[in-house]
Amino acid sequence: MKKVLIIGAGIAGLSAGSYLQRNGYQVEIFEAHTQPGGVCTSWSRGNYTFDYCIHWLMGSKPNTGFDLLWDELGALEDANGKPMQIKNFEEFTRTEFSDGEELRFYANADRFGEELRRIAPDDLELVDRLIDDLKYMSRFKVSVAKEKGSIFSKIGSFLSNLGTFRCYLKHLRTPIGEYADKWKSKYVREALCNVIPPSWSLGSLTMGLAMQHTQAAGYPVGGSLQFSRNIERGFLESGGSIFYGSRVDRIVVKNDRACAIKLASGEEISGDYVISAADGHSTLFDLLEGRYVSPKLKKAYDTFPLFPSSVFIGIGVNKNLSDLPHAIMIPVTGSFTLPDDSNRSHLSVSVHNFDPTLAPSGKTTVTVILHTWNDTYWRSLAAGNRKEYSEVKQQTGERVVEVLEGRFPGLKEAVEVIDVSTPHTVHRYTGNWHGSFEGFAPTPTTLMTRLPKTVPGLANCYMIGQWTTAGGGIPSAAIDGRNIAFDLCRKDGRTFIGKIY
Ligand SMILES: Cc1cc2nc3c(=O)[nH]c(=O)nc-3n(C[C@H](O)[C@H](O)[C@H](O)COP(=O)(O)OP(=O)(O)OC[C@H]3O[C@@H](n4cnc5c(N)ncnc54)[C@H](O)[C@@H]3O)c2cc1C
Repeated sequence: MKKVLIIGAGIAGLSAGSYLQRNGYQVEIFEAHTQPGGVCTSWSRGNYTFDYCIHWLMGSKPNTGFDLLWDELGALEDANGKPMQIKNFEEFTRTEFSDGEELRFYANADRFGEELRRIAPDDLELVDRLIDDLKYMSRFKVSVAKEKGSIFSKIGSFLSNLGTFRCYLKHLRTPIGEYADKWKSKYVREALCNVIPPSWSLGSLTMGLAMQHTQAAGYPVGGSLQFSRNIERGFLESGGSIFYGSRVDRIVVKNDRACAIKLASGEEISGDYVISAADGHSTLFDLLEGRYVSPKLKKAYDTFPLFPSSVFIGIGVNKNLSDLPHAIMIPVTGSFTLPDDSNRSHLSVSVHNFDPTLAPSGKTTVTVILHTWNDTYWRSLAAGNRKEYSEVKQQTGERVVEVLEGRFPGLKEAVEVIDVSTPHTVHRYTGNWHGSFEGFAPTPTTLMTRLPKTVPGLANCYMIGQWTTAGGGIPSAAIDGRNIAFDLCRKDGRTFIGKIY
């Protein structure tokens, strides 16, 4: 039996492990942290659970493409086989403006169109085109199963998706800042650039909106860590092994062939294949000491912009807050300056009143995420002065609560817990480069670049996960796991099995 060593138990590593183990490989996963999920996680403080990750999960609805992955991996089933409840929202998000106006990004495209006509009466042509595009894009069905169908049926399916695919391509190639400039409405311009940075692809917003229209991307009640644990359980039940608290320091190479890994403890474990589902930068430049960096990879790591890191504030509130929208951008008078000097004009607030598992009855968790690209400040502060780091975190949390109190009077006195995580936290627990939470940012250039899943010049070594597909995301991490298992089966002359019934 061939042995596969996987570095990292995030969604990509867990998915690869599950598919490989059920296809007759002996799989061992080595994870630096003490639990599965990587960035797809949540954590508890007192009676409250703060969910860091899932806002929308593509494939949460049957027969939409990515659902095949969740079915095969058992990702949406608890330990008793009970399906996680999927919550779809009336609004994707909502942006409020300092003059009291608001723009609701309704999930239903027609309703969103009405809202846009109200707020942007001088942009009717743009509104109609956008709504048509969203409806068109919502029909796109990803074909996940590489092994299924003849070449003719694959060509047929490609051709039937061609129009939708072209529409996607148009959106992927357009920077959102350039698109926003076409609108006369200052509200739409401001809202678009608040949701994502101007250089990112318009597609990174419209793809999510299109999925909302068909309710193909909801939220699994129970949250991110539960979702990760469901996949972990399937892997363990099929006979795989995970070693937690096992940081990998080196990929051992002989004659340009990966043959083992070396743990931080000094222990060396040999295997037939090594798959890194960990941070891409440390895989290439630390574990492999920069010896296998092709010009394409060098260009990506030298020039591609990154997803930001985050200062994330989890707030436990002794109120049910059932009257509040679940996702809202709140304007800040002047701006909110983080201690690392990043300025934010809005706070991105999630009110988790839709998931009763995250707080006791009658209580709710509220989370606020503030993007920052200045991880250096937080990491230096944490390394240099622990006490000051804790104080700065606490003050940041309290300032955020003050802003929320301005918008939701009475909230402050009901606050029971404030927990702040920083880019230092993201780096410490997941090893992601610069504390980036999703790898390379989805700009038109990065999205059009295919990064290799092999390591150029090195045999038996593979890279998967969010650093190998710009834009990241849970489905692309999981599909990488399936694809690498399929490719290894083909290489070893095995028939690939997606699910054992
Ligand atoms: C705030 C936030 C919101 C998000 N929202 C969504 C959403 O709504 N929908 C969606 O689809 N996606 C979302 N994402 C993105 C998605 O969660 C990620 O792209 C995906 O989970 C990445 O999985 P991964 O396995 O590639 O990487 P990671 O999760 O980073 O996993 C890598 C793992 O490798 C481990 N590791 C690293 N180095 C080593 C080493 N040397 N030795 C051993 N182990 C190591 C890490 O500890 C980690 O567990 C969100 C992400 C964040 C952070």
